[in-house]
Amino acid sequence: MKLDTIHMRYLNADDWRVLQAVENGSRSHEVVPTKLIGQIANLKTGMGSANRAISDLAKLNLISKLRNAKYDGYRLTYNGFDYLALKTFAQKKTLVELGSTIGVGKESDIYAGKDGQGNERVLKIHRLGRVSFRTVKNKRDYLRNKEAQSWMHLSKLAAEKEYEFMTILYENGFEIPRPLDHSRHCVVMELVVGFPMRQLREHFQYKKLYSQLMQFMVKLANHGLIHCDYNEYNIMIKEDGSYDPATEPGFLVIDFPQCISINHVDAEFYFKRDVECIRRFFKRRFGYSPKDDSMMLDTDGYGDGFRHAYPVFSRDVQRIGDLDMQVKASGYRSEKKTELEDALGSMKRDYDGTEEDEEEEEEEEEEYGSELEFSESESDTDSVNEKIVQALVDGEELETDKFGN
Ligand code: ADP
Ligand code: MG
Repeated sequence: MKLDTIHMRYLNADDWRVLQAVENGSRSHEVVPTKLIGQIANLKTGMGSANRAISDLAKLNLISKLRNAKYDGYRLTYNGFDYLALKTFAQKKTLVELGSTIGVGKESDIYAGKDGQGNERVLKIHRLGRVSFRTVKNKRDYLRNKEAQSWMHLSKLAAEKEYEFMTILYENGFEIPRPLDHSRHCVVMELVVGFPMRQLREHFQYKKLYSQLMQFMVKLANHGLIHCDYNEYNIMIKEDGSYDPATEPGFLVIDFPQCISINHVDAEFYFKRDVECIRRFFKRRFGYSPKDDSMMLDTDGYGDGFRHAYPVFSRDVQRIGDLDMQVKASGYRSEKKTELEDALGSMKRDYDGTEEDEEEEEEEEEEYGSELEFSESESDTDSVNEKIVQALVDGEELETDKFGN
């Protein structure tokens, strides 16, 4: 799903009010009746203007017309949802420029951008359900939209959860990009000057990197959390020269919505799986496969030169913090699974580093290799996006809900 901001600059204050009225109305109505949209928007210029705005928004595919058994009405589309989030960021100046795509995951789109002071930022748009969109293509419109609506809701939950996790981890000194804002299904964060570990070919201190990555996991678990998707796709290696190797580790960890508590019934399983992903990567890429060494006394790291080759949950994890409780991570107490967990669980990328993955790797890297050069090379659509958000900053303020969305 492409983020298409081309129409953003043409929307006037009334259009924005009406778009937001559709969003607000969706909280109580699956299909928001046309009349109610007008009432919520409460335009000074009257109902006629509201109807005009409704029809313009529908033409731009920011809302879509639906008919249920009793009445005609409208519903916000993913496009409209994107616009509202971007508008909110632009008003707060946390993101005023959009650049090129720097990553497309199964469940998210990642864009480069800038804030009001010109600092480089990353916009992560959660898009849960993208895969199932394809499979429901043939269903009737109404059904498809019903599905889209609940995915929109889940994407919003995923973004909220990720922002919350990132905030608390960042405040506690974990090596992650600084989270800066969130609205609806989107998160704005610091840009990592670097690249995913998957693209790492050589490293002057790969044994140290291995040890630090393992230590990160243990530190995270000691504070109550397990990443659950800890692999070469979600570890960003900092560009040489962008950090001080004497005092800082050369990586940052990303992608947090699926984190769980160490109290989760399957905590040990997920911890081990994360450990295995790192081991497998280092074995394949660097032929590095350390063994436990009882001659060594140093337990302050893992791998060559240390007693243990890799961390083991029951031996190495000792709770010293309760971040899982603070963010109510899944499994922190025995409660029913949330709808978000169910959705994430059933859609999990389930990367297990099989031979197939490795074979596809070279091919894919050729295809996506240019990801790194995003700041120089921008595609046509991306350059259309650029600076468009800027045009919004002067627009009328959107109302904010209790989350500041
Ligand atoms: P997904 O949930 O879709 O896997 P991620 O958060 O892992 O999303 O991001 C996908 C890709 O986007 C990453 O592999 C990385 O290339 C890029 N990316 C994400 N966040 C950042 C960031 N803060 N700085 C630079 N690149 C990033
Ligand atoms: Mg990821």
